[in-house]
Amino acid sequence: MQRWFFGLVFLVFPGCAATAPAEAGPKTSARAPILVQPVQVTARKPAPSPAPVATNEPAADPDADDEEGPDDDEAEAAEEAAEAAEAAGASPPPPAPKAPSPLLALSVTQLEARYRSDPASVGPLSLGATNAGALVNGVQMPKSEKWIVQDPSCAWGTQETVDAIARSIEKVAAEHPGAPPLAIGHISSRKGGHLSPHRSHQSGRDVDLGYYHNPPKTTFVRATEANLDLERTFALVKTIVSETDVELVLIDTAVQRLLVAHAQRKGEDEAWLDQVFQVRGKHPRPVVRHARGHGNHLHVRFVSPVAQELGRRAGAFLKREKVAPPHVADAVVMHKARSGDTLQILARRYGTTVEAIQGANGLKTIDIKMGRTYRIPVPKPPTAAKAPAAPKRHAPPPRNTAGATRGR
Ligand SMILES: [Zn+2]
Repeated sequence: MQRWFFGLVFLVFPGCAATAPAEAGPKTSARAPILVQPVQVTARKPAPSPAPVATNEPAADPDADDEEGPDDDEAEAAEEAAEAAEAAGASPPPPAPKAPSPLLALSVTQLEARYRSDPASVGPLSLGATNAGALVNGVQMPKSEKWIVQDPSCAWGTQETVDAIARSIEKVAAEHPGAPPLAIGHISSRKGGHLSPHRSHQSGRDVDLGYYHNPPKTTFVRATEANLDLERTFALVKTIVSETDVELVLIDTAVQRLLVAHAQRKGEDEAWLDQVFQVRGKHPRPVVRHARGHGNHLHVRFVSPVAQELGRRAGAFLKREKVAPPHVADAVVMHKARSGDTLQILARRYGTTVEAIQGANGLKTIDIKMGRTYRIPVPKPPTAAKAPAAPKRHAPPPRNTAGATRGR
């Protein structure tokens, strides 16, 4: 079962595609044969800039109740568009590992040799972009009384992702005793790759988490002023943002407003809130951003310094060995086919292969249709392949709880 590609993922892990429990997404997308609902070409803006109004208009987004269906797709597509733009320019490189893993001392050749003799010994590898990725030696989210994994077959990530999720939830549980178990939705499939209904969730670094509710819910339920457990939900977001290697958190604007108002009542640092929450309208690219479809759950994308770096080193080898599919790539660009386009021409133009484009689009033949939009997996330009840098943490300044004084 090495030569799998997107389509087969559905056959191998039918549970993944079929069930996203408690997410009332349209059933149609669940079984839809393979990936590409060709993305709308329009590169959507990263996210609407938050209105400066301070009112909590009650969940005005009528689509929000659909959740995790096409909306989630759109949201993530928007995110990806922003990321693709970043990748094309001077973008933040993947971060460097902080706790040095002995595996990082291995050269590419040594890593290959080690994988050949004992594949598991190289640990989890996160390959490619979150929307064009794969996962090797993934780790399944363990069971705990502190959380409920809605679909264990789609709860595979890097060790770093799984640890970050567990640590964050455990901290909330420790600081706020009596916390109900938190709903954990999809992370990735066991081998990563396309996971319906998402565009991302492909490389073991994305997770959907429920909000804490009063009274508790074990599924994804739309968060409102009336039912959101602000204390615990804010604690969760704050922990993720300030204590884990997080790349972004997607939270509906209405929910962000509730969290920020709560944080202000608690006396959280205003400058920190500006830096972190998009709803404040102060930071061009804050870590917590709005995306449609995230009114009943939040989406966290973690950085996995070790698994990503090892994945980067082993990527070419794993493709050659057919462990990773050919369409694993650093980024995806959308191309609307014009007269005269062929897969060979597109492959040459974008520096990829025919097989990769076929894989990314579930194409069995080399036929392409004029006017249709195709996903093209692309490598990063060599100039962007810099040495990884350390991830940025978003820790607030120390609080004045222990007698320290702070002007307010
Ligand atoms: Zn998600």
